[in-house]
Formats: sequence, C-alpha cells, structure tokens
Amino acid sequence: MSSDEDVAGDGRMIAWPLERLARVLRAREHEDGLTPAQREALRYLARANRFSNTPGALTRYLGATKGTISQTVMALERKGLIAKAARDAKKSVRLTLTDKGRGTLASDPWVQLEAAVEELGGKTRRRMQRGVEELLAREVTRGGLASFGICASCRFFREKGRDGDAKGPHLCMLFDDALSNEETGHICIEHADAN
Ligand code: SF4
Repeated sequence: MSSDEDVAGDGRMIAWPLERLARVLRAREHEDGLTPAQREALRYLARANRFSNTPGALTRYLGATKGTISQTVMALERKGLIAKAARDAKKSVRLTLTDKGRGTLASDPWVQLEAAVEELGGKTRRRMQRGVEELLAREVTRGGLASFGICASCRFFREKGRDGDAKGPHLCMLFDDALSNEETGHICIEHADAN
C-alpha cells in the first residue's frame, strides 16, 4: 500500500479531487430554482468585459448550441437576473446582470469557493493558480477553443497606452479603445495570447 508521501503530487491524486470538487459544487448549483447552465451564464456575464457580454460570446464560452443559450438567456431574463440592452448600430444585444442577479451570484457555490481559496496560504494559492492555468491552457489548445483570457496576457494590450483618457489609462489596440484598470481584469472573447 502506498504511503501519503508516495502519492503526493501524483496526477491521479490531483485529477480525482478536482473531479470530486466539481461534482460536489455542481450538486449545489441546482439550489434557488436555478440550473447549472443558468448559473454558468450568470458567472460568465459577471466576468466578461464589454466586448464579450453578448449571447454569441456566451455561446462560444460555454460550447453550447445557440438554441440552448437562447433558452438560458430567456429564463434568466424572466427571473429578473439579467437585462438586455442594445449594443450598437448592428442591433446586437448586450447582456448585463441586474441587482437581483448580482445578489444571486453572491450565494453561488463557485463564487463562495473563491473565498475558501483566499483562506489558503499565499504559496499554495500561487502554485495552484500556476498549475490550474497550465492545465486549462493545454485543454484549450487541444480543443482549439478561444482562450477567454484577461488583458494582461493579451497581445493587443498596451499598458498606459491611453494615459490621460478619462476611460483609460490602458489601450486595447484591437478595438482601438481605452480600458480602465477594472476592465483589464475581465475576460474577453478576442483575447490573443501574447506569448
Ligand atoms: S487587450 Fe485583448 S483581452 Fe483586452 S480588450 Fe483588447 S482584445 Fe480583449
């Protein structure tokens, strides 16, 4: 029989807790009359930047069909958790969380996990972040999926590129638009890895 030390760092002993953790949290995603898909959509919209809060981007992020996403969006709107607004002249739609939606998100099991992670030691958190990011990047590459990363790791990002602009101080070269400090922490459908 293997001792704890023999299996420490073993791939199985990391993949299995990840799988169990996801299952345990998934079971709680049915609380408050919501479905896991509706919760995923709420979490996505809370994290997405203003170029990515559309039904199309949500469809791509979740890897679901247009029909499924349309049903999910309608259900969330009916429950008063999200609102639709016109995005631009092309008549595309922007989805935003309502106050009720933000309140619902506070009791989301994955959002509560963020607080639990904060209670771990700094070294553990940094190592976990590196490891999980690497695993995710490999799966994204393997599946040919969009990275949905944040500005800091994007090749279109220019730090302080719009210094002096009230909407800045940073610049997105792809959209030729200013980005605030807060916006740079949101995920983006057009993210392109700088490396
Ligand atoms: S810099 Fe990259 S991640 Fe940030 S808004 Fe522009 S395209 Fe999106």
